[in-house]
Amino acid sequence: MYDYLIVGSGLFGAVFAYEAKKRGKKCLIIDKRDHAGGNVYCESVEGINVHKYGAHIFHTNDKRIWDYVNSFVEFNRYTNTPVANYKGELYNLPFNMNTFYQLWKVKTPAEAKAVIADQIKDLNITDPQNLEEQALSLVGTDIYEKLIKGYTEKQWGRDAKDLPAFIIKRLPVRFTYDNNYFNDTYQGIPNGGYNKLTEGLLEGTEVRLNENYFDNKEYYNSLAPQIVFTGKIDQYYDYQFGKLQYRSLRFDQQTLDTDNYQGSALVNYTERDIPYTRIIEHKHFEFGTQPKTVITHEHPAEWDGSNEPFYPINDQLNNETYKKYKELADQEQNVIFGGRLAEYRYYDMHQIIGSALKKVETHFGTK
Ligand code: FAD
Ligand code: UDP
Repeated sequence: MYDYLIVGSGLFGAVFAYEAKKRGKKCLIIDKRDHAGGNVYCESVEGINVHKYGAHIFHTNDKRIWDYVNSFVEFNRYTNTPVANYKGELYNLPFNMNTFYQLWKVKTPAEAKAVIADQIKDLNITDPQNLEEQALSLVGTDIYEKLIKGYTEKQWGRDAKDLPAFIIKRLPVRFTYDNNYFNDTYQGIPNGGYNKLTEGLLEGTEVRLNENYFDNKEYYNSLAPQIVFTGKIDQYYDYQFGKLQYRSLRFDQQTLDTDNYQGSALVNYTERDIPYTRIIEHKHFEFGTQPKTVITHEHPAEWDGSNEPFYPINDQLNNETYKKYKELADQEQNVIFGGRLAEYRYYDMHQIIGSALKKVETHFGTK
């Protein structure tokens, strides 16, 4: 009845469905949630598009991907410029001349570089092996202690020495007065929220909600000769090599009777003793002028099977376990694995779209 069964209606599944439909194929998507769109899903509250699974800012350097998403919905000019609150003091992010001035009153790049060099001169880090060493070698001890260590250890529930270095390299370090959180050429939020993007991708494809693939695997497998699987790869293989670890989040959402609570879409709380990592004020993603506001406190938590697996923990042990699952996946003839959970990678949205388009091209050919 269908050419493809797609497990998961997030960006990976939705891009695959759109591209398959374009090529005359019929897909069925199932999703265990009660809505489509995966983690980019937004819910309208008081006329504000609330990012239900945490702040999502689209950014890419790839014009093809930017044009692709803009063909479904126009993006606004939002530029992410979060601030960090450490013990009541505010600092600009990412780490740039504004941050260095706020911390040390230095005014030139040479002065800032000299402070950092002085702070790390005795550490002798030549080849950073973990997040702590990487952070110290990039920005020195002050920034590490005030803006990185506490945030990182509550976000990941692990010592910064036990985390991979690449995680901190997501953040730019700049010796210019530029608070843009990303270096990419293109950045923005879809006008009207992300649902416009996923609805555009899913238009004309049947989506069944509240259906979990693992509740009736045989039945779902019988519906189509080929499967696109975007759920947890370890679960697909019955955890035979052990469970992969994930970090989860608890979102504490409130509607407030004020039109502007914090003046920024994102404020990070970088000290260890505050249990949440950041407060999102959703209206600022779209320059909202509604009379009320909606805020969300993000509380990190370990994934325990009862909450959502949001972040893969790409340390050495988990990566080795993943490799074993990947070897099985590579032998499958009729299953395509894709997305953040099936590829066990800390992918952003543009990378998911890039990965889906690449898999589409490999599978169908470039035409
Ligand atoms: P998902 O969106 O997770 O979709 C997978 C879908 O599969 C889900 O709907 C799930 O319910 C369904 N599913 C899973 N298992 C089953 C099953 N067994 N049966 C049926 N359905 C199943 N990216 C950015 O570019 N910018 C950002 O600012 C950004 N911020 C983020 C903030 C947070 C807190 C998080 C968690 C992620 C963020 N991302 C950001 C990353 C972005 O969310 C992902 O790259 C992207 O949404 C992943 O798409 P996906 O299709 O792989 O997975
Ligand atoms: N990070 C930090 N302090 C901050 C913001 C980020 O130390 O104020 C570190 C932290 O380890 C985090 C990583 O940088 O996990 C990546 O941050 P990003 O904002 O990219 O995380 P995401 O939006 O994916 O949660």
